[in-house]
Amino acid sequence: MARKHSKHDPYGEIGGEDEAPAPALPCWLCGRPTGKTIVWHHPVPKSRGGRDVVPMHPICQKTLIANFTNSELQRHGMDVESLLANPDIRKFVDWVANKDPDFNATTAKKQR
Ligand SMILES: [Zn+2]
Repeated sequence: MARKHSKHDPYGEIGGEDEAPAPALPCWLCGRPTGKTIVWHHPVPKSRGGRDVVPMHPICQKTLIANFTNSELQRHGMDVESLLANPDIRKFVDWVANKDPDFNATTAKKQR
């Protein structure tokens, strides 16, 4: 049976039309949905001619650029698997997996 809902019913199917912006993009590095802040990261550094950008958490980008030089990033390029093969990155991704999408710690302040 087709369900009819009149124009006068503001609580139709989803409720709140303007409430749902774009669906959360998955972070390029950790694969979790991005939070309020999305960083558009150049897998190949801009200074190296990289034009593609990927959505990332600020903390993920910070970790990435803390662990790789521009030359290394350029070499890996869009190949996120090879970045994840790095033990430090792997460890970070496993660690951040249970954090809130908006979680953003400074790398200097480690909690355990
Ligand atoms: Zn991430």
